Amino acid sequence: MRRAIYPGSFDPCTNGHLDIIGRAARLFDEVLVAVAPNSRKSPLFDAAERVAMLEENTAAWSNVRVTQMGGLLVEFARRSGAIAIVRGLRAVSDFEFEFQMALMNRKLVADVETIFLMPKEDFVYLSSSIVKEIARLGGDASHFVTPNVYARLRSKFGHPAPEE
Ligand code: ADP
Repeated sequence: MRRAIYPGSFDPCTNGHLDIIGRAARLFDEVLVAVAPNSRKSPLFDAAERVAMLEENTAAWSNVRVTQMGGLLVEFARRSGAIAIVRGLRAVSDFEFEFQMALMNRKLVADVETIFLMPKEDFVYLSSSIVKEIARLGGDASHFVTPNVYARLRSKFGHPAPEE
Protein backbone atom coordinates (compact mmCIF):
# COMPACT_ATOMS: atom_id res chain seq x y z
CA MET A 1 0.00 0.00 0.00
CA ARG A 2 1.70 3.19 -1.18
CA ARG A 3 0.08 6.00 0.76
CA ALA A 4 0.72 9.73 0.34
CA ILE A 5 -0.31 12.66 2.49
CA TYR A 6 -1.41 15.93 0.93
CA PRO A 7 -1.36 18.50 3.74
CA GLY A 8 -2.63 22.04 3.62
CA SER A 9 -4.99 24.62 5.03
CA PHE A 10 -7.58 24.18 2.25
CA ASP A 11 -9.36 27.35 3.40
CA PRO A 12 -11.30 26.65 1.21
CA CYS A 13 -10.22 23.99 -1.29
CA THR A 14 -9.98 25.36 -4.82
CA ASN A 15 -9.94 23.73 -8.25
CA GLY A 16 -6.13 23.91 -8.00
CA HIS A 17 -6.14 21.71 -4.89
CA LEU A 18 -8.53 19.27 -6.56
CA ASP A 19 -6.27 19.10 -9.63
CA ILE A 20 -3.33 18.11 -7.41
CA ILE A 21 -5.46 15.55 -5.53
CA GLY A 22 -6.48 13.95 -8.85
CA ARG A 23 -2.85 13.70 -9.99
CA ALA A 24 -1.75 12.22 -6.66
CA ALA A 25 -4.65 9.73 -6.71
CA ARG A 26 -3.33 8.35 -9.99
CA LEU A 27 0.18 7.93 -8.59
CA PHE A 28 -0.55 6.44 -5.17
CA ASP A 29 -2.74 3.63 -3.84
CA GLU A 30 -4.18 6.01 -1.25
CA VAL A 31 -4.08 9.77 -0.77
CA LEU A 32 -4.79 11.14 2.66
CA VAL A 33 -5.73 14.81 2.41
CA ALA A 34 -4.79 16.30 5.77
CA VAL A 35 -6.39 19.54 6.89
CA ALA A 36 -3.92 21.36 9.09
CA PRO A 37 -4.58 24.20 11.49
CA ASN A 38 -2.35 26.94 10.13
CA SER A 39 -0.70 29.00 12.82
CA ARG A 40 0.35 31.64 10.26
CA LYS A 41 -3.16 32.35 9.02
CA SER A 42 -6.49 32.66 10.82
CA PRO A 43 -8.89 30.58 8.77
CA LEU A 44 -12.22 31.70 7.34
CA PHE A 45 -13.67 28.17 7.62
CA ASP A 46 -13.17 26.05 10.71
CA ALA A 47 -11.42 22.70 10.32
CA ALA A 48 -14.68 20.70 10.26
CA GLU A 49 -16.03 22.88 7.42
CA ARG A 50 -12.78 22.52 5.47
CA VAL A 51 -12.91 18.74 5.88
CA ALA A 52 -16.59 18.67 4.82
CA MET A 53 -15.88 20.68 1.65
CA LEU A 54 -12.99 18.38 0.72
CA GLU A 55 -15.09 15.27 1.37
CA GLU A 56 -17.89 16.60 -0.82
CA ASN A 57 -15.47 17.24 -3.65
CA THR A 58 -13.33 14.11 -3.47
CA ALA A 59 -16.16 11.58 -3.15
CA ALA A 60 -15.60 10.40 -6.73
CA TRP A 61 -12.07 9.17 -5.95
CA SER A 62 -12.32 5.88 -4.07
CA ASN A 63 -8.69 6.08 -2.91
CA VAL A 64 -8.84 9.57 -1.40
CA ARG A 65 -9.56 10.12 2.29
CA VAL A 66 -9.80 13.38 4.19
CA THR A 67 -8.76 13.91 7.77
CA GLN A 68 -7.73 16.59 10.22
CA MET A 69 -4.19 16.64 11.44
CA GLY A 70 -2.33 18.34 14.25
CA GLY A 71 1.26 18.44 15.41
CA LEU A 72 4.30 17.84 13.28
CA LEU A 73 3.56 16.86 9.69
CA VAL A 74 6.36 14.31 9.44
CA GLU A 75 5.24 12.58 12.64
CA PHE A 76 1.70 12.49 11.34
CA ALA A 77 2.98 11.07 8.03
CA ARG A 78 4.96 8.39 9.82
CA ARG A 79 2.05 7.43 12.10
CA SER A 80 -0.23 7.20 9.05
CA GLY A 81 2.17 4.89 7.24
CA ALA A 82 2.70 7.38 4.41
CA ILE A 83 5.76 7.14 2.18
CA ALA A 84 5.38 10.61 0.66
CA ILE A 85 4.18 14.14 1.29
CA VAL A 86 2.58 15.76 -1.75
CA ARG A 87 2.74 19.50 -2.27
CA GLY A 88 1.58 21.62 -5.19
CA LEU A 89 3.97 24.01 -6.91
CA ARG A 90 2.45 26.92 -8.76
CA ALA A 91 5.26 29.32 -9.43
CA VAL A 92 8.80 30.14 -8.46
CA SER A 93 7.36 32.11 -5.56
CA ASP A 94 6.21 28.84 -3.92
CA PHE A 95 9.62 27.28 -4.34
CA GLU A 96 11.74 28.79 -1.61
CA PHE A 97 9.35 28.06 1.25
CA GLU A 98 8.52 24.58 -0.08
CA PHE A 99 12.20 23.73 -0.61
CA GLN A 100 13.08 24.76 2.94
CA MET A 101 10.17 22.80 4.40
CA ALA A 102 10.94 19.67 2.36
CA LEU A 103 14.58 19.63 3.44
CA MET A 104 13.69 20.31 7.07
CA ASN A 105 11.11 17.53 7.03
CA ARG A 106 13.71 15.17 5.58
CA LYS A 107 16.09 16.08 8.44
CA LEU A 108 13.34 15.22 10.91
CA VAL A 109 12.23 11.99 9.23
CA ALA A 110 14.55 10.68 6.52
CA ASP A 111 12.31 8.09 4.90
CA VAL A 112 9.30 10.22 3.96
CA GLU A 113 9.85 11.85 0.56
CA THR A 114 8.29 15.16 -0.44
CA ILE A 115 7.07 15.22 -4.02
CA PHE A 116 5.91 18.28 -5.93
CA LEU A 117 3.16 18.21 -8.51
CA MET A 118 2.29 21.00 -10.91
CA PRO A 119 -1.33 21.85 -11.61
CA LYS A 120 -2.91 22.46 -15.00
CA GLU A 121 -1.80 25.91 -16.25
CA ASP A 122 -5.28 27.34 -15.66
CA PHE A 123 -4.82 26.91 -11.92
CA VAL A 124 -1.32 28.28 -11.58
CA TYR A 125 -2.52 31.71 -10.44
CA LEU A 126 -5.15 30.33 -8.05
CA SER A 127 -4.90 30.50 -4.29
CA SER A 128 -7.41 30.20 -1.46
CA SER A 129 -6.54 33.78 -0.40
CA ILE A 130 -7.34 35.24 -3.82
CA VAL A 131 -10.61 33.34 -3.99
CA LYS A 132 -11.59 34.59 -0.51
CA GLU A 133 -10.74 38.17 -1.44
CA ILE A 134 -12.87 38.02 -4.60
CA ALA A 135 -15.78 36.47 -2.69
CA ARG A 136 -15.46 38.95 0.17
CA LEU A 137 -15.80 41.83 -2.27
CA GLY A 138 -18.81 40.24 -3.96
CA GLY A 139 -16.97 39.25 -7.18
CA ASP A 140 -17.56 36.14 -9.22
CA ALA A 141 -15.31 33.37 -7.91
CA SER A 142 -17.42 30.59 -9.41
CA HIS A 143 -14.76 29.51 -11.93
CA PHE A 144 -12.16 28.83 -9.27
CA VAL A 145 -14.03 26.56 -6.88
CA THR A 146 -16.74 23.90 -7.12
CA PRO A 147 -20.41 24.96 -6.75
CA ASN A 148 -20.72 23.69 -3.17
CA VAL A 149 -17.62 25.60 -2.06
CA TYR A 150 -18.88 28.67 -3.90
CA ALA A 151 -22.22 28.48 -2.08
CA ARG A 152 -20.47 28.26 1.29
CA LEU A 153 -18.20 31.18 0.41
CA ARG A 154 -21.12 33.38 -0.55
CA SER A 155 -23.05 32.59 2.59
CA LYS A 156 -19.93 33.20 4.72
CA PHE A 157 -19.68 36.71 3.33
CA GLY A 158 -23.44 37.28 3.45
CA HIS A 159 -23.90 37.43 -0.33
CA PRO A 160 -27.12 35.87 -1.63
CA ALA A 161 -26.91 32.85 -3.92
CA PRO A 162 -26.63 33.93 -7.58
CA GLU A 163 -29.76 33.59 -9.69
CA GLU A 164 -29.92 30.42 -11.79
P1 ADP B 1 -0.66 25.83 3.07
O1 ADP B 1 -1.20 26.82 4.03
O2 ADP B 1 -0.09 24.59 3.68
O3 ADP B 1 0.20 26.39 1.98
P2 ADP B 1 -2.75 25.61 1.12
O4 ADP B 1 -4.13 25.09 1.34
O5 ADP B 1 -2.63 27.04 0.77
O6 ADP B 1 -1.97 25.25 2.42
O7 ADP B 1 -2.03 24.73 0.04
C1 ADP B 1 -1.82 23.36 0.22
C2 ADP B 1 -0.91 22.86 -0.90
O8 ADP B 1 -1.57 23.02 -2.14
C3 ADP B 1 0.40 23.63 -1.02
O9 ADP B 1 1.39 22.72 -1.46
C4 ADP B 1 0.11 24.63 -2.10
O10 ADP B 1 1.27 25.02 -2.79
C5 ADP B 1 -0.80 23.81 -3.00
N1 ADP B 1 -1.69 24.64 -3.81
C6 ADP B 1 -2.50 25.64 -3.41
N2 ADP B 1 -3.16 26.18 -4.45
C7 ADP B 1 -2.74 25.49 -5.54
C8 ADP B 1 -3.02 25.60 -6.95
N3 ADP B 1 -3.84 26.52 -7.44
N4 ADP B 1 -2.38 24.74 -7.76
C9 ADP B 1 -1.52 23.83 -7.27
N5 ADP B 1 -1.20 23.69 -5.99
C10 ADP B 1 -1.80 24.51 -5.13
